[in-house]
Amino acid sequence: MAGRILIVEDEAAIARFVELELQHEGYAVDKAEDGRSGLELALTGTYDLILLDIMLPGLSGLEVLRRLRREKETPVILLTARDTVMDKVSGLDMGADDYITKPFAIEELLARIRTALRKRPSPQADNRLTLGPIAMDVARRQVTADGTPVELTAREFDVLKLFLENPEIVLSRETFLSRVWGYDYVGETNVVDVYIRYLRSKLDSACGRSLIHTVRGVGYVLREA
Ligand code: CA
Repeated sequence: MAGRILIVEDEAAIARFVELELQHEGYAVDKAEDGRSGLELALTGTYDLILLDIMLPGLSGLEVLRRLRREKETPVILLTARDTVMDKVSGLDMGADDYITKPFAIEELLARIRTALRKRPSPQADNRLTLGPIAMDVARRQVTADGTPVELTAREFDVLKLFLENPEIVLSRETFLSRVWGYDYVGETNVVDVYIRYLRSKLDSACGRSLIHTVRGVGYVLREA
């Protein structure tokens, strides 16, 4: 088998056509017709690649991608009917590997799939993040400080994950809002300060020292002393 591919596409004719072509090339294929079922399959199944339409009923393709990237690094190629710069930029920012504009030639799609599959990360690559005494097992969503488990809420975990992915880099409130809360989040930016205060107090007491530092007027940074 060449690999297992998930197609998330609401236009049945396109989904069927691509499915047949992929099966002909030796890929195993699953399909979903809307954003929610696509996300569920993407999170629960094991896929080598996901073809993700942007304009979907339920959840948009970009929202599916954003939620998927909190959990998994499965390669994603976006299918977009609109050749708009904004969709491409948002999609690539959110961790898409590539995009293709409809209508596309099947040979071009197959070539891009082969390229994306060659670049795929090893399964273990992104499972652990560490800094000083803090260790995060991303797949199990567990955090330890000096080997002792630290209980975090889902949101605190996501905030810490962003810190650990960007060690010693000052992150703005807007970065936290877009990466943890989502581009569509509407509300007070001080929600970020509130969550970082919770997270900092838990980590401070677990580590016996402060690792999250406030950079006045800019944001926050995770670093040793
Ligand atoms: Ca569509």
